[in-house]
Amino acid sequence: MSNSASAPTATQQAATLLTAAGDVTLVAHVQPDADALGSALALGLALRQRGATVRVSFGAPAQTPESLVGLDVAGLIVPPDQVPARPEVLVALDTASRSRLGCLADRIETADAVLVIDHHATNDRFGTHHLVDVRAEATAVLVLRLIDALEVPLNEPMARCLYAGLVTDTSCFRRADPSTHAVAGRLLAAGVDPEALTRALLDTHPFGWLPMLATVLGRAQLEPTSAQGLGLVHTTVRLADAAGLRGEEIESVVDLVRTTSEAEVAAVLKEIGPDRWSVSLRAKNRIDVSAAAAELGGGGHRLAAGLTADGTADAILDALRTALHNAPRLQAPAL
Ligand code: 5GP
Ligand code: MN
Repeated sequence: MSNSASAPTATQQAATLLTAAGDVTLVAHVQPDADALGSALALGLALRQRGATVRVSFGAPAQTPESLVGLDVAGLIVPPDQVPARPEVLVALDTASRSRLGCLADRIETADAVLVIDHHATNDRFGTHHLVDVRAEATAVLVLRLIDALEVPLNEPMARCLYAGLVTDTSCFRRADPSTHAVAGRLLAAGVDPEALTRALLDTHPFGWLPMLATVLGRAQLEPTSAQGLGLVHTTVRLADAAGLRGEEIESVVDLVRTTSEAEVAAVLKEIGPDRWSVSLRAKNRIDVSAAAAELGGGGHRLAAGLTADGTADAILDALRTALHNAPRLQAPAL
């Protein structure tokens, strides 16, 4: 949609900033998912095509998640210590707050300009320029708009990166309106092989995943009276359970736990250090778990949120029960 007579849109302003930039650093949040890294890589490819010097990075972990390696066809990813101390233009993708950039957060202060591209309701607008649209199902949708505004023709490597973000953030198009399917149609028309891509992204695990699931799902607990009487199901993934497995195996657990019919809310507490936990929260459609996560120092979307917390698993669960008790109810099924 163009409205040339009125003020420039956020997309146009972002395109103007990037068109003038000779050197662009694109950063995803720590433990990047397909939407964060795919969005950064797709925009990086488009800007490189326009002649800019680009690099893509993320604060942690040291290695690119194995299921996402195939997205970096041009070798744009560099370790954080190769990110300039004073970037000309820093673009933060799928990142709701500065702390989610981990060790790269300090570049927000040193960069000449910071463009934030995101779709999280909890985005706190930490940049100098913002392309933030909470109605977008994925950051990848916003990046496609920006690539169009930059007048870069979409090619298969860019489309593959964007499709990876779209398919994962919509839970395989379970949440997708007609415009989202139209975006997916454009990406497929650009040459994406959806079966090969989703197999690598979502449907490939080593054998050790199966005994890990047996242990972790075996200790799941159902609390029908929690979450305002709508039910909470939770489990823990201890470091010992996850030994030798990738992040992909650990992140898959919540997608199984959340299918529990007796519980509106699912929580998976993932041990990341001594008395330190990363928590994944999912709701079906009646409780805003981003509010509960924010209450505990995290953030995210209404139906998919998370936080990082110190303490015992029992103490974190107690705090979570309280936060869910106080969390806003959602009226209608929400996207
Ligand atoms: P996941 O459970 O897939 O790791 O994360 C779901 C959502 O919660 C993500 O979109 C992310 O924005 C948010 N999230 C996950 N972990 C954290 C965290 O430690 N801090 C914040 N602020 N948000 C998180
Ligand atoms: Mn996203």
